[in-house]
Amino acid sequence: MANPSLGRSFPLKVTAGVFLILLLYFILPLNLARFISPHNLKYLFLFYLLNSVTVICILRKNSAANYAFDSRAQELREKFNLLSVEYSKEHKNNLALKEKYRRYNSLKRILEGINQSLDLDVVADTFASEAFSLIANNRGVCVLYLVDNQTQKLLLFKAKREDPQLVIKAKEGNIFDLWVLRHTSPLLVEDINNDFRFDSEKLRLQDARPVSSLIAAPFTSENKFLGVIRLDNTARYFYSQDDLRFLVSVADLGAVALENSELFKRTQDLAIHDALTTLYTKGYFSERLKEECKRAIRQKMPLSLLMLDIDLFKNYNDKFGHTAGDIVLKKVSQIITNSLSNFNPIISRFGGEEFCVIITGMDKNSAVSVAEALRHRIEEEEIILRREESHITVSIGVANLPADAAEEDELIQRADKAMYKAKQKGRNRVCCT
Ligand code: GH3
Ligand code: MG
Ligand code: MG
Repeated sequence: MANPSLGRSFPLKVTAGVFLILLLYFILPLNLARFISPHNLKYLFLFYLLNSVTVICILRKNSAANYAFDSRAQELREKFNLLSVEYSKEHKNNLALKEKYRRYNSLKRILEGINQSLDLDVVADTFASEAFSLIANNRGVCVLYLVDNQTQKLLLFKAKREDPQLVIKAKEGNIFDLWVLRHTSPLLVEDINNDFRFDSEKLRLQDARPVSSLIAAPFTSENKFLGVIRLDNTARYFYSQDDLRFLVSVADLGAVALENSELFKRTQDLAIHDALTTLYTKGYFSERLKEECKRAIRQKMPLSLLMLDIDLFKNYNDKFGHTAGDIVLKKVSQIITNSLSNFNPIISRFGGEEFCVIITGMDKNSAVSVAEALRHRIEEEEIILRREESHITVSIGVANLPADAAEEDELIQRADKAMYKAKQKGRNRVCCT
């Protein structure tokens, strides 16, 4: 940019110079000439002429230097302006980099957090909280959905919200989550009303709360879709591409951690649940029996133990096959679970076709009645295999603490003995010792 004050001072200086020349070389000499002899006048004239030429040369040189100075100043100003623009750009970049550094540094913290636990609930909560605070500054809503292994549908697992009163109605995800699921790719919507990919009317029906912008990323591990994390806000353009990139990094970490905790949960479940019937395993049941007996003795409360064995199950297997036998085992476990649900029982598959049930707070007589009702219910059940209707029966032994035993080992022995008695007496009956 040119300096206007420099441009204005140049003609002023020239005018002053010209005026001085006129005064020194023309007005004064003409007045002096009256006192000098005419013969010497030509020398005086020559002297002034030479001086005038010299002064004009100096003035011209000076004006050229001034002009060069002005141009240089303008050039420098332009450079200064360009540098200012670049500086503000770099300053913004610097701030953005600092923010990125802060966020990526926090990934380390998230990793440390999730490494401390294999609990799916804790891990999912860590992700939802960190994403909500780091990306959205705890504004709007953050929801985390996981795929239900049985139904293969999304299920709301964690929700973080700015307004604690807010209710998330889309328990199985909305159109955006389903889009992420279908495309297995991240999603940024800056303004829902101007995004041709989505029908905002449909969204209003799914989740009545107003949303204008959002980001969402999938949790995927080796092509397996585990879930989706979404952040949304009522303001338009609330999220940037950078926010989405960060959410994707969080989701990548999350996928591994969530899969690990799911595997851990499944392993834990397998250790305490029988794979075929989903009832408790013998090992877990024995531990629980020990605890419950101690509690019953301490609280001076009765506890009853039912031991069931399917009658002549070997024959059943031989006739219909092992797979059919498995179906029967599942069926029996369902009947036991449903029939005794009112008594808060602890049920286990104790062996091949043997089941054990703890009913706390129940005396011997009631236990015998309950066992009889259960035996009857199993006997009644129609089982259709290979288009053939069949029935199964069970023999049940009942033992009670404190009526039959003083501690858990004795209690098991008494129940086993009672069950053996039922077999000996012709099966399909309830016995106690
Ligand atoms: P009882 O009335 O004396 O109990 O006769 P039972 O045939 O039921 O008794 P036994 O002990 O002779 O046979 C038990 C059978 O249970 C043998 C085995 O084939 C079957 N069994 C054990 N576990 C499983 C299983 O997981 N699936 C199937 N299909 N059968 C099983
Ligand atoms: Mg048996
Ligand atoms: Mg049997």
